[in-house]
Amino acid sequence: MTLSPEIFETVSELREELATYRQRGDSIGFVPTMGYLHDGHSALIERAAAECDVVVVSIFVNPLQFAPDEDLAAYPRDFERDLERCSAAGSTLVFHPSVEEMYPSPTRTMVHVAELSSEFEGASRPTHFSGVATVVAKLFSIVGPCRAYFGEKDFQQLVVVKSMVADLSMPIEVVGCDIVREPDGLAKSSRNVYLSEAERQAATVLRRALSAGEELILSGERDVALVESAMSDIVTAEPLAALDYVAVVDATDLHRVSSLPRETRLLVAAKVGRPRLLDNVGVTVIPVDLRETGADLAT
Ligand code: AMP
Repeated sequence: MTLSPEIFETVSELREELATYRQRGDSIGFVPTMGYLHDGHSALIERAAAECDVVVVSIFVNPLQFAPDEDLAAYPRDFERDLERCSAAGSTLVFHPSVEEMYPSPTRTMVHVAELSSEFEGASRPTHFSGVATVVAKLFSIVGPCRAYFGEKDFQQLVVVKSMVADLSMPIEVVGCDIVREPDGLAKSSRNVYLSEAERQAATVLRRALSAGEELILSGERDVALVESAMSDIVTAEPLAALDYVAVVDATDLHRVSSLPRETRLLVAAKVGRPRLLDNVGVTVIPVDLRETGADLAT
């Protein structure tokens, strides 16, 4: 039997409840979301439930991370359905604060993670990651020491959050979780609901571009410019997609690379109709000479 999660709308009530769990020695898992939950969110909640005694899911559409011309007002919301998902996936507590509860006075303190916030998503959305880092720092401060689960779907966000936690010595263990996809490869996203039928078909181009880049590398291609141009050619060939960027980066610091590091990440973003869609894939790069000799690479 799945129990309905308890809902908390204020910071003080949530803190009080979590203090009781902590006194009992329970470990706390935390999944921050903006709601309109799908299987990608459920996978984070399920993993947290498997690894922690108590799971807090926050549902809060954070105005700080939207620029004035973005889709804050139109961002999809369905709290009742979200609660059902939280319950089915094993969440214990849901934190659902109002904007006034989270930001009772104008926010003067912002968290800015330098270098990691300015490229890729940050280039199109210059204030986005300061908004994300600030709300995540605030949520970590409210929830307290915990394991926090984030999707690799928003890979740059995951790297930004990990850096913030390390830089500010926050008592949080950040756990990155695999991307959950539709059967045809499209990464699940709350914003996929904006896609028309034709755009929905076209949206698979992101995954196709990543797969092509990955296959090139796995078959021994080491020319980064060639991998990037093969990926961008695939996206630009799709008339309903407007390419924003493709990039081959070091997975640890998001630096663009000229030679492939062992942990390489391929990133892509494109506008398909109204929404900008993001996707990425990790590739473990094995030096060609070791691949050819079949050397044992387990370390
Ligand atoms: P959001 O509600 O879009 O802010 O996302 C909340 C969390 O869910 C973030 O850590 C996202 O990276 C994660 N997430 C969103 N979509 C997916 C997906 N398709 N697979 C895995 N995690 C996801």
